[in-house]
Amino acid sequence: MKPESLSAAPGDASARKAVAPVVCYPRETLPRADLSAYRALRGDLTLVDKVTVPPRDAACWSVPAGHFCRIRCEEGPQVGDLNLFHAENLDERLFTGKTRALNGTHIGLGEQLFSNLPYMRPMATITHDTLDWYGFDEFGGSVHDVIGTRCDPYTHNLLSDGGQYHHCCHSNLTRALARHTGRTLEAAEPLVHDVLNVFMCTGFLRDTGQYFMKASPVRPGDYLEFFAEIDLLACMSACPGGDCSSEHSSDVVRCYPLEVEVYRPAGRPEGWTSPSINAYGRTHGL
Ligand SMILES: [Zn+2]
Repeated sequence: MKPESLSAAPGDASARKAVAPVVCYPRETLPRADLSAYRALRGDLTLVDKVTVPPRDAACWSVPAGHFCRIRCEEGPQVGDLNLFHAENLDERLFTGKTRALNGTHIGLGEQLFSNLPYMRPMATITHDTLDWYGFDEFGGSVHDVIGTRCDPYTHNLLSDGGQYHHCCHSNLTRALARHTGRTLEAAEPLVHDVLNVFMCTGFLRDTGQYFMKASPVRPGDYLEFFAEIDLLACMSACPGGDCSSEHSSDVVRCYPLEVEVYRPAGRPEGWTSPSINAYGRTHGL
């Protein structure tokens, strides 16, 4: 809760509050993926890689441009925290802030995940989601958010009077990236960035604006599928919060592995080319 206000409301406060909102980034001019062209390839896919993300740990894998990737719930309800990089340039990575500004707080079918500035281009397009029936619930909650950053030991330390927990998603991603890239922990940690919270059910409380979570509706057999727009290195943590129905940053909750599958389609989507980096000239007015 915010503290009680110290400033008196002006006489026209209710009129000011009644002004209708304007969408910051109208979607009409946002280039949208031709979802039907992507989905037309789904009938002829060859499995080329399979990775298990152990509970309270993380794993890395590659998805070449033009391939599909499925993140599967197999054994029990489990949330995954996903980082994405351009495989050939780890400075280019998922930009959840702008992805959220363009698409909304939660990601779904046909929407694209964008990379950071100055690269800013689509990295991946969501091509199937077995949880797309969920929509938004009565609390304003939905699945697959780009708002929650990731659980991390620094926040836990602040909130638990000095607690030292080592299997937050941030630490899991750090260890996996260190292993995969051959970097030290110290060099790998800055690679970790705000995540796509796969399967996590979240929102903001309407009265206080606080970030909330609730039990993920994910069931064994559910999956989120994306198409790689560029060569990707992915890294995902199976969150210590499990289905995130009660708590995270601890070993209390039951956790399950997540399965990852990479598929090569028989062809390319009609009319598709891998997007180039952003065409802004970078003179910044000088
Ligand atoms: Zn987590």
